[in-house]
Amino acid sequence: MKNEKVLIIGSGPAGLTAALYISRAQLEPLVVSGTQLGGQISITSEVENYPGFPQGTTGPELVELMRAQAETFGTRTVIDEVTEVDFTKGPPFTIKTHSDVYQADAVIVTVGASPKRLGVPGEDEFIGRGVSFCATCDGFFFRQKDVVVVGGGDSAIEEGIFLTRFANQVQVIHRRDQLRAGEALKRRALANEKIEFMWDTVVEEIVGNGKVQAVRLRNLKTGDARELRIDGVFIFIGHYPNSSLFEGQLEMDEKGYLMVDEKFMTNVPGVFAAGEIMDPVYRQIATSVGQGCAAAMMTERWLRERA
Ligand code: NAP
Repeated sequence: MKNEKVLIIGSGPAGLTAALYISRAQLEPLVVSGTQLGGQISITSEVENYPGFPQGTTGPELVELMRAQAETFGTRTVIDEVTEVDFTKGPPFTIKTHSDVYQADAVIVTVGASPKRLGVPGEDEFIGRGVSFCATCDGFFFRQKDVVVVGGGDSAIEEGIFLTRFANQVQVIHRRDQLRAGEALKRRALANEKIEFMWDTVVEEIVGNGKVQAVRLRNLKTGDARELRIDGVFIFIGHYPNSSLFEGQLEMDEKGYLMVDEKFMTNVPGVFAAGEIMDPVYRQIATSVGQGCAAAMMTERWLRERA
């Protein structure tokens, strides 16, 4: 059993910012990274709206900078995944990972969200064989190939633009006839010769033989069905909160987002939350950073008042 003052679950912008503030308060936080160090931004190709980077940056670069800054002040990061928590007793609270058991006086939960799946036949079967949720990771494999992007939000359009670096053609399949994405991205996508849009259309099946060969589509307005031969399917249709670990222990809304008070504290005193796990609305790097900072300040104050 290892004893910690503050254990941070998750290593995205919220977790790494909380770690920066907690370590500057000399509380030597431990960050348990989760399966993906950096969380969702580590699989984000380009970041153009995080202040301080007038030329833009990439997700992986930003993660490394945030981690390095937190570690400068004494943050320790372990690459491991939390498998079980017990918040019913404590503090100290018990947190189990694949390789250790920790007791922590305070916990900050910043486990973020994961990409939603379409739930159509072929999707799970062809993950890693033509179906992808990450253009940064897999775009390179689709040089001179034809791909489709599913979704009409900022992620779909941003990642679709990124994929034009590699692919011959990128067809964006959207279930409505208007994009949800913001104006700047929308304009760039509409001006990009390699991008085509298929409006009012859904993917009903992903078909292939060992790897993706085609998608079966349906136009929701006309009802027409067709098959489109393609090499890759990139799916960006939103996210769901990674809160299953906390079911029955932390209060959440009907979609699974953790509920916090104005001090970023959950229903369990000493357990705080920040970032996309508690924020279904803003979900930006900048807002996660702000929430991580606020949660860390409140954690430090809570520990100080109990001492
Ligand atoms: P999102 O904004 O929730 O968009 C999801 C898109 O997928 C929507 O167009 C939605 O269609 C579509 N969709 C959802 N379920 C579907 C289904 N079952 N089948 C087909 N299509 C489906 O998600 P996101 O694009 O991942 O963005 C998440 C948040 O991050 C947003 O707040 C966004 O602004 C932010 N973000 C910002 C940037 C940036 O500023 N550069 C980049 C990435 C993400 P409908 O439109 O019909 O609902």
